[in-house]
Amino acid sequence: MAKNQGSAGRFGVRFGNTLRKKVNDIEKTSRGKHACPFCAKEGKVRREAYGIWKCSSCGKTFIGKAYTPY
Ligand SMILES: [Zn+2]
Repeated sequence: MAKNQGSAGRFGVRFGNTLRKKVNDIEKTSRGKHACPFCAKEGKVRREAYGIWKCSSCGKTFIGKAYTPY
């Protein structure tokens, strides 16, 4: 396994390079504001419950991970 994969390296080889890179980007942004996967607005996504996220901009609720909405 290559080095310098970033934080997504722990996902192993289940994901392709493209997705792994995407996850890296997401995890960088997830430290701060979350972007809604539906309307792409940042700072509007709030965690409603464990793994449940809601966007206060478009009102959609979606299933995510415990600490990031993806
Ligand atoms: Zn939204």
